[in-house]
Amino acid sequence: MKEILISLYICLFSFSLTQAKTFYADGSKLEKKVALTFDDGPGKATEKILEILQEKNVKATFFMLGVSVASNPALAKTILNKGHEIANHTYRHINFYAYESENKFLKMEQEILKAEDIIKNTLGVKTFLVRFPYGYAREDAIATAKKLGYYVINWSFGTDWKDMPASQMYLKYKNAITSGAIFLIHDLFKNGKVISFLGDFIDDIKNKGYEIVTISELLDIKGPNVK
Ligand SMILES: [Zn+2]
Repeated sequence: MKEILISLYICLFSFSLTQAKTFYADGSKLEKKVALTFDDGPGKATEKILEILQEKNVKATFFMLGVSVASNPALAKTILNKGHEIANHTYRHINFYAYESENKFLKMEQEILKAEDIIKNTLGVKTFLVRFPYGYAREDAIATAKKLGYYVINWSFGTDWKDMPASQMYLKYKNAITSGAIFLIHDLFKNGKVISFLGDFIDDIKNKGYEIVTISELLDIKGPNVK
């Protein structure tokens, strides 16, 4: 019985260790650092977002879709040239919660690798951070990402896809400022809601004494997940 309990403990311990190293939804609670992440682009809102980030001297992480990079290569290059971090949001935004097929593992792998190829060919950057569409982060997604040397990055707060007045949305983002926060915003949306308060939101973060960093800096990740 004792041996069984010990092996169970070791099993659970290594499982949680593996998960912790591959999947993140926030950073350390001990450091006053947060990260801004932008999904689905490059898109309609990207240029304005880049202007605001430059004005505020902030570096963010852009989780790009393969299809978006393929249709906006110049904009993707601008994001890179302005010093932001480039990350993978898969090729064409498949909802894996609803994807029921025997080839699900293969499909997830292909979606990551297709986006990786397009990003590499367009920007010369090899991605190692992935965010699955809709934050899909079940065991199969994490195993697939790990196999390909990726970390799966979700978020601690995001609400820009919901229908609410900009003032209410701003307040929600502002109230979510905390150590290790990963904020999700979309740069594909046409609506100007986030754009209308992004500058103020960045000021709020700084005024509260937090530093805004990229995901790899927030999580202290230096390269592909090969451990
Ligand atoms: Zn998305």
